[in-house]
Amino acid sequence: MPEPILTVEGLKTYFQLRSGVLKAVDGLSFSLAPGEVLCIVGESGSGKSVTAQSIMRLIDPPGEVVEGHIRYGDTDLLSLPEQKMERIRGDRICMIFQDPMTALNPVFTIGAQIAEGLREHQGLGRREAKAKAIELLRLVGIPQAEARFGDYPHQFSGGMRQRVVIAGAIACQPDILIADEPTTALDVTIQAQILKLLSEIQKRLHSAMILITHDLGVVAAMADRVLVMYAGRMVEYGDVETVFREPKHPYTIGLMDSIIRLGGARDAELRSIPGMPLVPVDPPPGCRFRFRCDEAHERCETETPPPRDLRDGHSVACHLLAAEKA
Ligand code: SF4
Repeated sequence: MPEPILTVEGLKTYFQLRSGVLKAVDGLSFSLAPGEVLCIVGESGSGKSVTAQSIMRLIDPPGEVVEGHIRYGDTDLLSLPEQKMERIRGDRICMIFQDPMTALNPVFTIGAQIAEGLREHQGLGRREAKAKAIELLRLVGIPQAEARFGDYPHQFSGGMRQRVVIAGAIACQPDILIADEPTTALDVTIQAQILKLLSEIQKRLHSAMILITHDLGVVAAMADRVLVMYAGRMVEYGDVETVFREPKHPYTIGLMDSIIRLGGARDAELRSIPGMPLVPVDPPPGCRFRFRCDEAHERCETETPPPRDLRDGHSVACHLLAAEKA
């Protein structure tokens, strides 16, 4: 296994709310190898996006990373001065957000926005930056790229805007791309095109990618490894084949049972996970999934299940697995 390009250790990102402390990410650890695609999955509020924002150091008050390490190679991102972090952000680690309109400035042309990034991060001159920006627009499939260089974001459709955002994100050939539900705001017909584009680009640049999604179909198609989160914590982590073939955590099993599988029995019953996701504001001790878990027992109410390695990096946080392993 190559040295990880990104290592997250014991990350805790909390929000001080009037109603209590929202432990949005609570002790998360994982790593990302160069060129690897890691999908982070979970329901809304599971801490997926806060994890991404913590890596990018984009957490605003009342939120704060209160503990943990985030290492990009040997560099501890959390202790880096903001100026140095700014260079890494947008150059070596880039993020693609759900809604392309939030990433684009409506008062500047799309060409100017991409070229500006190239001039700032790569020191290109005006002419070179324009040529490179047009090349990038072509690469992401914008028709008549040269003519559209001077258009404003509102002159593009949602799918085309997301292509522009991707062009901006890959302008400096980043080592890590973080895509936070990049197709959620788009029409279903466009979603597949954007995911295909992301996959092609990631392979072409050999960038590592963290793809945040709630769609297990996307995970199956794109991931090398998958991290399943529930209420701020990792519940299962491993290579995608193992987790799909042999999900071990009751929550992951519930997610798998709620999707139609190709090749599955025609009369297979689709099941939903009962109850509502836990919002981890001053969460009680014990397993956070216990309120929805058929297998919950006494120990689950008092003890937090630590992640345990089963084999080959397949890790699960559930007391049942501890018993099985022993
Ligand atoms: Fe269910 Fe207990 Fe395992 Fe949590 S630790 S998933 S409550 S069996």
